[in-house]
Amino acid sequence: MAKDEHWPGMCARCGRRQAYSEPFDAALCPYCDEWREDACGDPGCEFCARRPARPSLGREVYPKDTALRRAARLAARRPRTTHPLR
Ligand SMILES: [Zn+2]
Ligand SMILES: [Zn+2]
Repeated sequence: MAKDEHWPGMCARCGRRQAYSEPFDAALCPYCDEWREDACGDPGCEFCARRPARPSLGREVYPKDTALRRAARLAARRPRTTHPLR
């Protein structure tokens, strides 16, 4: 996939700019706290095997990744009801 300056583009759900998590090699929306690329399904894939249900949870795996940190920061501000996993 060509990763130009417009990539990963805008979120189809909230209309805001999406982000890219390099360690997970996946696009995500930090506002919706959702991955925007499906896991590849390969059980041996090192990227997908470590990928948590939500980008905000990925911060614990890769604390330095700016996209994940942003997702976690935004998630912390939202009401708990949007986070059934916690
Ligand atoms: Zn969004
Ligand atoms: Zn994969």
